[in-house]
Amino acid sequence: GSSRDDSAVSGRVRVAVRLRPRNEEEMLADADFADCVELQPELKRLKLRKNNWDSDTYEFDEVLTEFASQKRVYEVVAKPVVESVLDGYNGTFMAYGQTGTGKTYTVGRLGEEDTANRGIMLRAMEDIIAEVSPENDLVSVSYLQLYMETIQDLLNPTNDNISIVEDPKTGDVSLPGATVVEIRDHKSFVELLQLGEAHRFAANTKLNTESSRSHAILMVNIKRSVKGGNSALSSENGNITLTGKTSKAPIVRKSKLVIVDLAGSERIDKSGSEGHTLEEAKSINLSLSALGKCINALAENSSHVPVRDSKLTRLLKDSFGGTARTSLIITVGPSPRHRGETSSTIMFGQRAM
Ligand code: ADP
Ligand code: MG
Repeated sequence: GSSRDDSAVSGRVRVAVRLRPRNEEEMLADADFADCVELQPELKRLKLRKNNWDSDTYEFDEVLTEFASQKRVYEVVAKPVVESVLDGYNGTFMAYGQTGTGKTYTVGRLGEEDTANRGIMLRAMEDIIAEVSPENDLVSVSYLQLYMETIQDLLNPTNDNISIVEDPKTGDVSLPGATVVEIRDHKSFVELLQLGEAHRFAANTKLNTESSRSHAILMVNIKRSVKGGNSALSSENGNITLTGKTSKAPIVRKSKLVIVDLAGSERIDKSGSEGHTLEEAKSINLSLSALGKCINALAENSSHVPVRDSKLTRLLKDSFGGTARTSLIITVGPSPRHRGETSSTIMFGQRAM
């Protein structure tokens, strides 16, 4: 369906929360303790336990329990963004949360043998490939890692300092140095993501860091040829360029989907003796707090979205606000030991609404 609700018009951010099931360690170590969160999915509510008697209650656009399937998560939180991108609008999907709470599982899981557990990147591409026309449309992707305010190309590791360019007229953001690969079928996309993962692992080993310290960014560019003269495709709504002089000429509609598996949101121990821990911590705090400020501005319908403060937000500039759709999933774990981190993740999500 291409119908739109107010969230697309106002630029409001949709926010869902997903709870990871207890892992084995938590089942053993926390056996005598209740989970620190309790979900009421029908009411779209999350309760964060303060103690045995008391809890704080928060509402979200969607509440996904530990039993929610990958398919359902995709359909509820990401598919509306994908559909809107196929209609010619830009869109962003992001996963935010403490390391170990399921961001990568939700967004990037490849699930080679186990296709039922594939994540959002693969499901989004599957829907995009099914919808576009191989003759008239073009789908291409770039896959990047943003680490310490430096953008690295995960499809070609020698490109390790990609710059962000903004078109002064249209405001479109592009990465001229990044590898762009045309996608024609799902298999080649899976292979590309695998290659990107391998490069990410190698790059992080070389830098002596972990993937949880960087943002992984998939950019999908779609160019669709549509017949001219359709009033529903007015250039005020989407990113439309006329390719011919008459209104009957085909119109090329360009749109962009950006999917971000964000760096872990946890407070990093700044007293840590590890080489660049402090610098990493500063840089993650910088980009996540800049992101927070931007989505707060979107949530408040503010005319000023402060995108300049970090590379992450500069990169996302044309993919949120205006007619673009933004959806955020915050991931939390059940362990009472991480109540503090869970609480700050919840607050990040609440401020975005
Ligand atoms: P993050 O990317 O936020 O650091 P991961 O996605 O790597 O977290 O998840 C941490 C661990 O929990 C992984 O082993 C992952 O397979 C598992 N996990 C995460 N979410 C789920 C889920 N919804 N169901 C089952 N296992 C999950
Ligand atoms: Mg991860």
